[in-house]
Amino acid sequence: MTSHANDLFARFLARPARYEQDEATPDVRTALAEAICERAGNQGCRTAADLLAVLERAGLTAAGMSRLTALSDLPAGDLDSATMAAQLGSDALELVRQALDGHLAVSNFENFSSRLANIFAYARDVTDGVLADYIPELAKQDPAAYGLAVCSIDGQQTAFGEADTAFCQQSAIKPLIYALSMGLNGENQVHRHVGREPSGRRFNELALDPDNRPHNPMINSGAIMCSAMIRPGLPVADRASLLQRFVGSAAGGSKVGIDQAVYESERGTAKRNLALVKLMDEHDAFPEDVDPAAALDLYFRACSMTMDCRQMAVVAATLANGGVCPTTGHRVIDSRIVRNTLSLMLSCGMYDYSGEYAFTVGLPAKSGVSGGLMIVVPGIGGFGLWSPPLDRQGNPVRGIEVSRLLVESFPFHLFAGVTGS
Ligand code: GLU
Repeated sequence: MTSHANDLFARFLARPARYEQDEATPDVRTALAEAICERAGNQGCRTAADLLAVLERAGLTAAGMSRLTALSDLPAGDLDSATMAAQLGSDALELVRQALDGHLAVSNFENFSSRLANIFAYARDVTDGVLADYIPELAKQDPAAYGLAVCSIDGQQTAFGEADTAFCQQSAIKPLIYALSMGLNGENQVHRHVGREPSGRRFNELALDPDNRPHNPMINSGAIMCSAMIRPGLPVADRASLLQRFVGSAAGGSKVGIDQAVYESERGTAKRNLALVKLMDEHDAFPEDVDPAAALDLYFRACSMTMDCRQMAVVAATLANGGVCPTTGHRVIDSRIVRNTLSLMLSCGMYDYSGEYAFTVGLPAKSGVSGGLMIVVPGIGGFGLWSPPLDRQGNPVRGIEVSRLLVESFPFHLFAGVTGS
């Protein structure tokens, strides 16, 4: 698009990823630090501790974001712009200034958090659903486990319930397998081997599209195909650790583990996934240089990767922010890849409820059979949820309820803007 064409749509395009910027000159840093001290003073905030308290109320903590780590090293005592300009990078300074100006993605974070707390509590009363048991390890999950976390595109975070318990991601990892595969191979190569159409069938149905490709990357066959294209020449363990590092970067530079028991359990009950691999192999669906058995092994490791709700929320916020992680300020995913990933999450991310979810909730999301759900609110932030009991489509029952309540309470539906609600 030309810049003239961009101007025509400025209102809609004014959502660049935040904080993907070069370090400013010392002069600019000094000006930012002075502005911060002035605004802080106006808000009755004198010391570094006062400032941290104000930021915490806005949802920003030095512990939760590497971008703000240097804040906790500010000397005790009165705020001083020269020290601040010397110790903090322009990225942190800019963020602090926006927070003091009330210009973060969620302007009144305390109010937002208390509404979220209500939503979380309300959905706790929903106790329907059953645990997945076709992978024996999943049947051991605690049906009462329940956590929710949110992260805005500015890194504002809060969490409820068991948001710090890591659990295996299962299909909630599929958007990231797809994104990494596209980053390594390019969009054209990936889509030569996997379609982008909802299948209209179960997630593990023995079916390919009319071109003998898996229908899309959000179902098992498609995710196995995308796994096949992640550095096929390397040993599987190295490919898995590449994916772990990628997911960890999207999750704010945190550690992503692998649940060994789940991995063994999946391998021990793999008949359907083996059949899917056979079907694709029979139709020459794989690229030439890949070993289908290794692809399946990588896929099992990916499904066994663990994150907690807080990490999932940061990943979702990275997607909401066009691929720049809000807590580190680093670009993790190319923006074009993010767009593709979100498109497929919107059309195919919620099993056989995807059309209904796109209609009623109107947000890109991905669920998994362990009860995880990642919800992206483009340009605003993301949510990570965990509640193992599933409905008949395989989605966490409380996850659907929380989604419904979110769009009822906030103007998050992608098309909310057309009605102004
Ligand atoms: N590992 C699971 C399988 O391959 C993932 C299923 C899911 O979460 O949809 O069946």
